[in-house]
Amino acid sequence: MEIAISGGTGFIGSVLATHLADKGHTIYILTRSAKLTSTRANIRFVQWNAENETFPLSRIDAFINLAGEPINSGRWTQQRKARILTSRVQTTQGIVRQLAKLSRRPRIFVNASAIGYYGTSLDKTFTEASTTHGTDFLATTVIQWEKEASHAQLLGMRTIYARFGVVLGRKGGALPRMILPYKLFSGGTIGSGKQWLSWIHIDDVVNMISFALENEAIQGALNLTAPRPVTMQDFGKTIAKVLRKPHYFPIPSLPLRILLGEMSTLVLDGQRVLPETSVQHGYIHSYSNLEDALTDLLK
Ligand code: NDP
Repeated sequence: MEIAISGGTGFIGSVLATHLADKGHTIYILTRSAKLTSTRANIRFVQWNAENETFPLSRIDAFINLAGEPINSGRWTQQRKARILTSRVQTTQGIVRQLAKLSRRPRIFVNASAIGYYGTSLDKTFTEASTTHGTDFLATTVIQWEKEASHAQLLGMRTIYARFGVVLGRKGGALPRMILPYKLFSGGTIGSGKQWLSWIHIDDVVNMISFALENEAIQGALNLTAPRPVTMQDFGKTIAKVLRKPHYFPIPSLPLRILLGEMSTLVLDGQRVLPETSVQHGYIHSYSNLEDALTDLLK
């Protein structure tokens, strides 16, 4: 397949591009940056701004959109919240508008999304069949983002909303920050420790996207999470066990709420989300158990 990936320079996109190229696909990484070059013949960088430039490729089979301003790189001021929202909604709108003009549109459109869609809860379990959604900033952002992507479905592309859980990888994502206190012998439970953390190993992210590209029956919401979410307390204890470091120093909620403001929800609240659709379609996770995943990533 000829596959375009916007935001393909990021944490998930760079691993995904390599994985799909290894499977023999031709990958076009669409980026806002000029002059990026690849050492591989079947990965090409293409400079493109989705909001105001004509789509530069004419024959692609699948489009994967991962672009968006990072959500965890600074306090959520009104200005930053606006950038987080518009960098997703307007970019997706621009992409779909450009794809609509093509005489040969891609058959498949995968749009990044997030399990933040479901809102936060200590006691509920969410699957793709859940009929409720959250009302907080992340949930409302995701809802608008998916709404823009849904126009690709109306144009006849098989559209998938890839609702990522907390993606664990070696380079990038949340894990390097989460293990740092443990490496400094100051790890401990964050907040109450009862908040859910629906994690997924990066290998399962790329395998599941590849599975969804090939499986014609998959469309709509797709939760990219491991089948066994854990509480934040168990997450911390497992990091400590794998790194053989102490888990002594709890970080109470209040100072974090004061320090991080509304963004503290990223570590103090969570949701238990199961990957029902992929499992029903026969996807088998490489990492279902957190300790195995962390042992692989931190070895
Ligand atoms: P990254 O932040 O690593 O990469 C996202 C890419 O988006 C960047 O490489 C950049 O590409 C592009 N980008 C950054 N800022 C903007 C902007 N203001 N406007 C347009 N494009 C921008 O993200 P991840 O790979 O971690 O995640 C991919 C998507 O999945 C993101 O949208 C993220 O919100 C979502 N997600 C990720 C999770 C995770 O655990 N990692 C969890 C839930 C959702 P370039 O500069 O080349 O144009």
